[in-house]
Amino acid sequence: MTSHVLVINSGSSSIKYRLLDMSTGTKIAGGLVERIGEAKGRLEHTRGTDRFDSTLVVGDHEEGMRHIIAAFAEHGPALDRVRLSAVGHRVVHGGAEFSAPTIITDEVCNGIDRLSALAPLHNPANLAGIHTARRLFNDVTHVAVFDTAFHATMAEEAYTYAIPRSWRDDHGVRRYGFHGTSHAYVSRKAAELLGAEPTDVNLIVLHLGNGASACAVRGGTSVDTSMGLTPLEGLVMGTRSGDLDPAIMMHMHRSAGLSAPELDDALNHDSGLRGLADDNDMRQLRRRAEEGDEQAKLARAVYCHRIRKYVGAYMAVLGHVDAIVFTAGVGENDAGIRADALAGMRDLGIDVDPERNASGRTWISSSTSERAVLVIPTDEELEIARQSLAAAQYR
Ligand code: ADP
Repeated sequence: MTSHVLVINSGSSSIKYRLLDMSTGTKIAGGLVERIGEAKGRLEHTRGTDRFDSTLVVGDHEEGMRHIIAAFAEHGPALDRVRLSAVGHRVVHGGAEFSAPTIITDEVCNGIDRLSALAPLHNPANLAGIHTARRLFNDVTHVAVFDTAFHATMAEEAYTYAIPRSWRDDHGVRRYGFHGTSHAYVSRKAAELLGAEPTDVNLIVLHLGNGASACAVRGGTSVDTSMGLTPLEGLVMGTRSGDLDPAIMMHMHRSAGLSAPELDDALNHDSGLRGLADDNDMRQLRRRAEEGDEQAKLARAVYCHRIRKYVGAYMAVLGHVDAIVFTAGVGENDAGIRADALAGMRDLGIDVDPERNASGRTWISSSTSERAVLVIPTDEELEIARQSLAAAQYR
């Protein structure tokens, strides 16, 4: 019987899941439960091309997981009939403690809990899913796969902020980086496309989704990344500001009386594309920009300008770059953003071919471009499943 892995991505009000057949890496079934704790929740389950939707009340994560198991039983495949080799859990923050996929024990749960100080929105939600799943699948190996782990290879000079020593020593303030499973998956795929071993290529990976981050990858390992202590730093995102002058926060505190939680909320939820143009969906912004909307045009221009700065910086960090790789919702689908972000870089050996770019090809650099420019769909669930299976088999 082929082995299967169930991947669980438990958020504060939702649980996303996917069941994969690991002999082929294909998705057998998947879905999500959302609006946990609200008056009206929702479950969506897909199996192959069939999709099932239901409205239900989901009090907490335990109830959510029970609904998921019931959906598998009703719409297939029943989980007690498949050979589950592991349950893989996405965990956002692994701090300095977890630098690899980790078999979950009570002690590991305590570690993830301690790191909640660094990721107060994410780690407790991830942990709620872990606790529930461990209870419901108590004879299966559970593995935590951390968004931060891929960046554990960063050198001290790359992850250290120039701040007072006690902040660093006593409060864990340093750059950790996120989107690690995506950067890992995409950089391996890029090496494959370049016909080289991952250890032989240097890449700049641009993960442009709702959250967005750039990563400088040297020989298959992360040497720098744009997200820092939290996923707020770096590129312009759907609702997050990315880089800014930290003095802006003190200024807004003094001149508008904003408190720390208000600043936190504004920079995480009302900034980025939403702050620039009242919408965090790049599809809408593209449509509006095409219709001549100045706000949408500016939002897209700011977004691209920030990407350009990181590409330039990471070329200098890496010294030699074989390819620039676009991935995630915007990176995979918005040819205009890809073209504008890399425009005018011929002298840096980067030249996007307009036709290849517009026609949705994987290889979008021109035939004279010194460096390849690639579009590679990411698959974080598959990466989590692979890493979980490998960890479970090593135990
Ligand atoms: P997440 O970070 O939540 O996994 P995704 O990788 O799915 O996000 O990316 C979501 C973003 O991708 C949204 O801003 C959405 O507007 C954008 N997006 C999705 N499809 C397109 C498209 N065809 N053109 C432009 N942007 C797109």
